[in-house]
Amino acid sequence: MSSYQVPRGTQDIFGNEIRKWHKIEALIREITQVYGYSEIRTPEFEHTEVFARENDSSDVVNKEMYTFMDRGERSLTLKPEGTAGLIRSFVENKLYAGPDMPFKYFYTGPCFRYERPQKGRMRIHHQFGVEVLGDKSPYIDAEIIGLGLTVVRTLGLEDLKVLINTLGDKESREGYKTVLKDHFKPVLGELCQDCQRRYEQNPLRILDCKVDAQHPSMESAPKLQDSLNEASKAYFSEVIRILKDSGVEVEVSDRLVRGLDYYTHTVFEVVSVNKSMGSQATVFGGGRYDDLIHDLGGPEMSGIGFGMGIERLLVALEAEGIDLAEEEGIDVFCVSLDAQALDYAYHLTNYLRLNGYKAEYDVYQKSFKSQFKSVERKHAQVAILLGQNEMAKGQVILKKLDTQEQITLSEDQILHQLDHWLNEDHVCDHDHEHHHEGEEHA
Ligand SMILES: [Zn+2]
Repeated sequence: MSSYQVPRGTQDIFGNEIRKWHKIEALIREITQVYGYSEIRTPEFEHTEVFARENDSSDVVNKEMYTFMDRGERSLTLKPEGTAGLIRSFVENKLYAGPDMPFKYFYTGPCFRYERPQKGRMRIHHQFGVEVLGDKSPYIDAEIIGLGLTVVRTLGLEDLKVLINTLGDKESREGYKTVLKDHFKPVLGELCQDCQRRYEQNPLRILDCKVDAQHPSMESAPKLQDSLNEASKAYFSEVIRILKDSGVEVEVSDRLVRGLDYYTHTVFEVVSVNKSMGSQATVFGGGRYDDLIHDLGGPEMSGIGFGMGIERLLVALEAEGIDLAEEEGIDVFCVSLDAQALDYAYHLTNYLRLNGYKAEYDVYQKSFKSQFKSVERKHAQVAILLGQNEMAKGQVILKKLDTQEQITLSEDQILHQLDHWLNEDHVCDHDHEHHHEGEEHA
């Protein structure tokens, strides 16, 4: 018995599951292309300082990173999120010098966090994210929320709510931090160890402490909204107005601060309100960052992005009873009726594959009955029957399985007949160029 198992919080993906992933990944590519986003692939690990910057008080950075020394004594970290690595690349490759601001990117790939595994929350989770970098505009904030919604709605999700908040600009935030520190100072000794650290690093974080959620000082804490300056308020109202005008209902949630320290202005979460989702309901979320690009050595330039965890998305789809795993059938199954026909079945199958048909045959040449079971199991649309008598005359029998229509044809008529049966919208083209074995299939 094998004693090897996947590490805690990781999983193998195959069978029905991988079909769902393929559908989601294909849709992500299609929609990001329609919206004009180009892909950036960054390494799975970065120098630790890319993620652990000065004063970062978030749990992601402080508790959950996979950090290690490599053999050259460099501290490296497996990326815990997608944004910082992408911005590092944007700055390092001077992509900001390009002519077409804003710069619109997407990425997909694994993120690594040492967390307590739960359904939809894995230690290796896969994230689809977008980042739009350039001068700030409320239209961009609205656009990326719209893009994310397009992805999840196209997949079929309906039980969604858009939560939105603003953290304001730097001036507003600094003002709020001062007010918060004054508020928590008298009770600081009653709060948890993490909050002691957060008090110095980023007192905003105290507000989403799970340990101290019931402490009376939480309820009476001053609201960020009261510290916002006029410019920050005006920006936020514009984002909401544009979203509403494009038919996106939002709910302002003044407790929403998101898990990373670099956010400024707009932060948002699109959550599933399906009853079976429980506390892990965020489908995607993100926010704007005014200082991150500059902090990573780039120009003064703002950015905004979101991350969507694929594992979490799959849980949300399941909660709404949406099954993406439906198996697609094959086009043709070549049934070989006797020993001599196996060799022919092999070559005919290859010929059909080179011409773009999903074709199968039975390599073990099991009984006729058993081969026809395979035809059914694989949902083949057409069976080609290869028998000795017909083959002697250079002929094969084609059977269309839904209508049971059956015809005997010569080998060179097969493609034409398949085209007629399987591509009904397709106008028959007698000069159809056939691909043969050995040719490169376009
Ligand atoms: Zn606490």
